[in-house]
Amino acid sequence: MEQIVLRNCALLVPGEDDTRGGYDVLIEGDRIRQVSDRPIVASNARSVDVGGKTVMPGLIDCHVHVMSVVANPTENAGLPNQTTAYAVIPVLRSMLSRGYTTVRDAAGADFFLAQAIESGYIDGPRIFPSGKALSQTGGHGDFRRRTDHLEPSCCSDRLGMLTRVEDGVDSVRKATREELLKGATQIKITASGGVASSADRIDNTGFSLDEIRAIVEEAAATNTYVLAHAYTPRAIRRAIDCGVRTIEHGNLVDEETAKRMHELGVYAVPTLVTYDALAKHGEHFGLYPESIAKVADVREAGLRSLEIFRNADVKIGFGTDLLGEMHKYQSDEFQIRASVLKPSEIIASATATNAEILRMQGQLGCIEPGAFADLLVVDGNPLRDISLLAGQGEHLTAIMKSGCFFKNELA
Ligand SMILES: [Zn+2]
Repeated sequence: MEQIVLRNCALLVPGEDDTRGGYDVLIEGDRIRQVSDRPIVASNARSVDVGGKTVMPGLIDCHVHVMSVVANPTENAGLPNQTTAYAVIPVLRSMLSRGYTTVRDAAGADFFLAQAIESGYIDGPRIFPSGKALSQTGGHGDFRRRTDHLEPSCCSDRLGMLTRVEDGVDSVRKATREELLKGATQIKITASGGVASSADRIDNTGFSLDEIRAIVEEAAATNTYVLAHAYTPRAIRRAIDCGVRTIEHGNLVDEETAKRMHELGVYAVPTLVTYDALAKHGEHFGLYPESIAKVADVREAGLRSLEIFRNADVKIGFGTDLLGEMHKYQSDEFQIRASVLKPSEIIASATATNAEILRMQGQLGCIEPGAFADLLVVDGNPLRDISLLAGQGEHLTAIMKSGCFFKNELA
């Protein structure tokens, strides 16, 4: 197996406040084999001098929608499959260029896309797909408009339709089993109203308790879990009391609900950048006025939710949730969070905590023997200047995924 040794690394260990100088990292095949503060002896290895730059784990984004290639969800759902399949290629490539070596897709991407990347047909992050997210009729995943002639379902066979509308315990149970059969690694539900859907209010709840319980039960039966889109304390409470493991967005959370999340070991995956992008660019990219009007309801509360989660000791993951033309703002999430959290906390969210959410601790989000060789070489120290992770990967000198360089500008 091919060996590469990275020499003279400033190692970034998630959770620590500064890097550790003078490390060597030995990579064998797709894995990290050895990490040492003494020179590693490996006579057959290709030696790469990192020159004291920061070496950190590849970033993980736990809430993306790569199959959203145009911002308007109804338009996206109506695209021919070929268009969506080709348009996703640059979306994936750009994410990897920004340093995301793994993503959890929170609706839309399926097993076959994950496999196409794994097989090397297209460049992109490793994907944990949720398949189509489950929504009730009139819920956040129902992209029919009030004014539409309401056909029983809409575009459900289209790749660009990120959701499926299901009602009733039997129906959601079957839908969950189908998504798991098709290769979803976890199940996504919309447990409250949302911004991008036009006909529901943010403070609506989604699904009956019996429906949520049935979905959680089926996910647990195949040893996986449920993530729920939810904004309000009421919606979060309903979801977590039924066994949902991760709360997506959570902008309007209160102290009491955050305390309950902590008690139950529930993760929060805030996605603040999407509200920023929707407020600034949503109209330009064709989002409905009724959607734009809802952005303010959650945007302001977003930063406060980070404080509430942190004070309640809720484990905070890292997500972005951008749609269509707005994917390029993905790494603005770092700077938005920096007004509340320390760089070390934000980086830990986007590496170690997200790996826990994926149940891949020790394999992803860390630089340790046995882990996947997903590494970034950063020109500077992002623990002192988080903006080094912003933009389109300009400050990343090298990006390695599964032991292969996707980018390498080291001399
Ligand atoms: Zn989302």
